Amino acid sequence: MENLIEKIVSLCKRRGFIYPGSDIYGGLANTFDFGPLGVELANNIKKSWWKKFVQDRDDMYGLDGGILMNPKIWEASGHTAGFIDVLVECKKCHKRFRADQIDSKKCPECGGELTEPKKFVPMFKTFIGPVEDSSSVAYLRPETAQAIFVNFKNIIDSFHPEIPFGIAQMGKAFRNEITLGNFIFRKLEFEQMEIEYFIQGKDWEKYFELWKKEMEGWFLGLGIKKKSVRWREHKKDELSHYSKHTEDLEYNFPFGGFKELYGLAYRTDYDLKNHSDKSGKDLRYIDLKTNERFFPYVIEPSFGLERTMLAVLSEAYDEEEIKGIKRVVLKFKPSLAPIKVAVFPLLANKPDLIKKARQVYEIIRPYFLAIWDDRGNIGKRYYAQDEAGTPFCVTIDFDTLEKDDVTVRYRDSMKQERVKIDELTDYLKEKLNE
Ligand code: ATP
Repeated sequence: MENLIEKIVSLCKRRGFIYPGSDIYGGLANTFDFGPLGVELANNIKKSWWKKFVQDRDDMYGLDGGILMNPKIWEASGHTAGFIDVLVECKKCHKRFRADQIDSKKCPECGGELTEPKKFVPMFKTFIGPVEDSSSVAYLRPETAQAIFVNFKNIIDSFHPEIPFGIAQMGKAFRNEITLGNFIFRKLEFEQMEIEYFIQGKDWEKYFELWKKEMEGWFLGLGIKKKSVRWREHKKDELSHYSKHTEDLEYNFPFGGFKELYGLAYRTDYDLKNHSDKSGKDLRYIDLKTNERFFPYVIEPSFGLERTMLAVLSEAYDEEEIKGIKRVVLKFKPSLAPIKVAVFPLLANKPDLIKKARQVYEIIRPYFLAIWDDRGNIGKRYYAQDEAGTPFCVTIDFDTLEKDDVTVRYRDSMKQERVKIDELTDYLKEKLNE
């Protein structure tokens, strides 16, 4: 679809999914705020991830580590020395680019000459305490993974898991990104959903393949078409400082085509070994059957929340023309839809209708995220809910007062059905679970 990204950006603002950050002050590049519908969508994605990868598995442990951690962690992990972006600047228009993201030796914007590449550590620095000197420097974490490694021994001591097992965490990560992103694809602060899966080194290929399937399977389950994704292996010179083998799951984003959605990295025993060395604490795993002590190897599936949201929005966006009128619909899978049911009294100025509609609203509310709307005409209310991606609208009309039934209108087919009020909750439960 032409200009799909512009359409999504504008719909997200209009309907309260995603607002540009600090907007009334002229904005702040690469920052965004989630509005009421954006929070719900984000939470539904996170809930689905946590259930699938933590709660439904016997071999996974959840964690919520700190954003601020001892800066020695970032030395041991290699980030202060090895987490580097290479920056070039156009001498003419002064735009900055990441050297690995541009193809030619000229400025992609104006064709100007570029400066020599300059190394740059994209971690945000801050200071702990009132004195801003080198001894008080701290970093906002650039990935959630390190909290997992530094808690490895705690989890072992509390739960005695057998290898293979994983530790999972979701939360904010921060990167001082050089380039301007495409909407929420590249933000300064974003949410990661990461797993460190601890294995025996000899098994890495088997588990790598297994995690490829798991990652893709979960993502497609959000309602994404198979043809919209592909895997791409990192070339040797592209690998992060900790990785022996990385593959990206790429999604065909509505700007610039296939780009990294998630990463899957084989991190070997790099992190646990370095943290053992630098902290002086023995982080080896002890196999209680053989008494063998060793550093487990690690497969790391790393998911980004915002890139998931952008893919889900792109996939769900649809436009139709009905009797000369354009209809915009977000065809979310019901489980992801921010609002599940909207309840409308046909007219706002008829007390009997309002009273009955309120009763219906109160009946279904404990079970689904429902909203009430009595503004404007019914056509406008449907239009607004289609743009919000609400799967069902329930209208209470004059027939309801006599027959105790309501009209249920489907978002995708616009089909309408009459359903008895006392059957409505079960009816919606069944349809929303399909
Ligand atoms: P890129 O090459 O696009 O900068 P990356 O390879 O640095 O990404 P990883 O370090 O592999 O990204 O991070 C894991 C995941 O976190 C990514 O696959 C992506 O989903 C998400 N992510 C990384 N950086 C950002 C960002 N600035 N904004 C939003 N999501 C991000």
